[in-house]
Amino acid sequence: MKWHQDGDKDHSAETASRISEIMKKLDEDGVLDRIAREPFVMANRRLVLAVHHNLDYLAFVNSLPKSQKELELKFSQFAGISLFSSKGTPQAVFAAAGAVIRRLKRILVVDFDVHHGNGTQEIFYDNKHVLFFSSHCGDLTYPKSNSKASHIGEGAGEGYNINFPLAEGFNEDDLLYAVNKILLPVATKFDPEVVLVSAGFDAGIDDMGGCNVSSKGFGTVVRKLLCLAGGKMVLALEGGYNLKHLPTHVSHSIRAILGDEDAFFPDYDQTDHRPSESTISMADNLQLKLSPYWDVFVEKPPGPTPEGETPPRPGAVGGDPSGALGSHSSS
Ligand SMILES: [Zn+2]
Repeated sequence: MKWHQDGDKDHSAETASRISEIMKKLDEDGVLDRIAREPFVMANRRLVLAVHHNLDYLAFVNSLPKSQKELELKFSQFAGISLFSSKGTPQAVFAAAGAVIRRLKRILVVDFDVHHGNGTQEIFYDNKHVLFFSSHCGDLTYPKSNSKASHIGEGAGEGYNINFPLAEGFNEDDLLYAVNKILLPVATKFDPEVVLVSAGFDAGIDDMGGCNVSSKGFGTVVRKLLCLAGGKMVLALEGGYNLKHLPTHVSHSIRAILGDEDAFFPDYDQTDHRPSESTISMADNLQLKLSPYWDVFVEKPPGPTPEGETPPRPGAVGGDPSGALGSHSSS
């Protein structure tokens, strides 16, 4: 993935140093000695066309000029074009796609990058074989990006596209509330064969999203996703541009999968947390919107609190890790 390199190596967000710094940290933490490194194949034309339905896109990627100077000339209308495309970008595109594409019937895509997963949403918007969940900062979306909670998919894919916009500056309590209250109940019912994670760490502390998710917070999210698809999960690196924190976020996420209890919050659901009011009301809003498609948001009937138990504070996350699991029926 180091083939994609912004021309300005020292000041760019999209620097190939992201990858080398991550590998250095994984080595330091002893992670590389504990995991198998799978070879990957480059995606071929047939695989890429499985999602990009026309040849124009492929022709465009392949037609990118090979020198930085030619690139800048071709895209002179865009400032900082090398952020998006560099000499090695086409090669990096086919390597990245080849590393994650497989043919399956029920795929869950979880995108916790601070930016909306607009590309993935667009590709699978009318597809019920891919359940897409994007948590993102509501103020940081791309132009024309349909990133609101009301964008729930269309046609056969209606109800299979879930956007959870979060307020600026959100932290792991907000992210984990979204995961517990919306993602896990729906995803458990969907019963994916594999979970693909658009693992962007730019909602981390001191990163470009201005948010405050800690390394352990990311580790906890990843650890929770392991309960799906028998633990079959692919983490594909997306954002994360703070070279001090990114390697630690990645290392914690991998170590959380390996079960290192200092890499996530093992007792997260048994302790009290304070997501923001806007996160709580967004979850309520989404439960209403998704109820016609997913019968998993059944409220527990009001009744006396069993002796010795404290009633939960409104909005507190606790108990049932999936938050709101209700009755299950086949659909
Ligand atoms: Zn991002």
